[in-house]
Amino acid sequence: MPSKVYLARCSKNRPLGENALHAFKNAGLDSIISPGLVALKTHFGEPGNTSYVRYDDIEPTVELLKEKGAQPYFAETSTLYRGRRSNAVDHFHSAAEHGFSYEKTGCPLLFVDGLKGNNHAEVEVGLKHFDRVAIAHDFVLTPSAVIFTHVTGHELAGLGGAIKNLAMGLASRAGKLRQHDSGKPMVNAEACTACGTCAEWCPSDAIDVGKAAFIDNGLCIACGECLTLCPEHAIDFSWSESAASFSEKMAEYALGALKGKLQRSAFLSYVWQVTNNCNCKGQEMDTMCGDLGVLASTDPVAIDQAAAELIADAEGHDVFKKHWPDTNYEAQLVHGEEIGLGTRDYKLIEVNQDA
Ligand code: SF4
Ligand code: SF4
Repeated sequence: MPSKVYLARCSKNRPLGENALHAFKNAGLDSIISPGLVALKTHFGEPGNTSYVRYDDIEPTVELLKEKGAQPYFAETSTLYRGRRSNAVDHFHSAAEHGFSYEKTGCPLLFVDGLKGNNHAEVEVGLKHFDRVAIAHDFVLTPSAVIFTHVTGHELAGLGGAIKNLAMGLASRAGKLRQHDSGKPMVNAEACTACGTCAEWCPSDAIDVGKAAFIDNGLCIACGECLTLCPEHAIDFSWSESAASFSEKMAEYALGALKGKLQRSAFLSYVWQVTNNCNCKGQEMDTMCGDLGVLASTDPVAIDQAAAELIADAEGHDVFKKHWPDTNYEAQLVHGEEIGLGTRDYKLIEVNQDA
């Protein structure tokens, strides 16, 4: 039985937020969200990032939830890497700078993994890679969720969609680390100019820079930050089959994050400003395709599959594979289907804003 994925295409005449609401309503997602506590998961964007989904783009949907009796709050977690979202206080200020203040949204912002990202619940999943996954504690306590995803590329996942938003975005710091323990970076000493950027950002102090950068694999947690931040492209990742392994681990974390609320969770994915890397990058980035629309579904696998195919159809090729050839985003979807997170078999239903 295919899952339904609704698409409201972008139009110059309609604000993105209205498009999202239209897709949300047509998909009937308001009816599956419980009255009471509802976690809203998005991505506020690292300061300096210019392509994150603004509050204006999700506000109409949030207002509908409030009208329906929900008590929505924004749920976030601390990042692994050094930046301005690596603890709850810095993250709170960064969110406000990007327009997600209580004054603007009327929704509390809760850091569901605590002050420093170490407050989690061990959720039993009994799967190929994990028996238990470490999910942000207070998200586990919340009966219902709406996952607002900005679809992007990603240096390790290939595609950053709803599965990644759940898996990395709702894992505690320990949970993020457990997903990252495959693949290791390698430095091309001839290309390295010893600028020190990688060492400055490495969250585990695994890099020493002398005449060139040197990475201590024993300390490295394979977060991939150095890979994306090196201005000389002097760092590569030694993937083998581990690119698939990383993707499969994310699918298992996504399932764990939704345990007990898979039937009461809704997904909106913005295929808009699809940058080659995710909103964790505090900079302006190139886009991989035009602005296509907003997808809505109850199925995180189907919505990611639909996003990938929508973009491939528009561009005539798979932009994620082309830009990140050593990654394996399909493994997120294949394994997601195998473990019951959703299905890759979907029916795309285009909804006309004026209908
Ligand atoms: S991949 Fe390893 S060396 Fe590179 S920033 Fe992350 S922890 Fe540091
Ligand atoms: S960021 Fe790149 S160029 Fe700079 S020290 Fe690290 S590896 Fe070398």
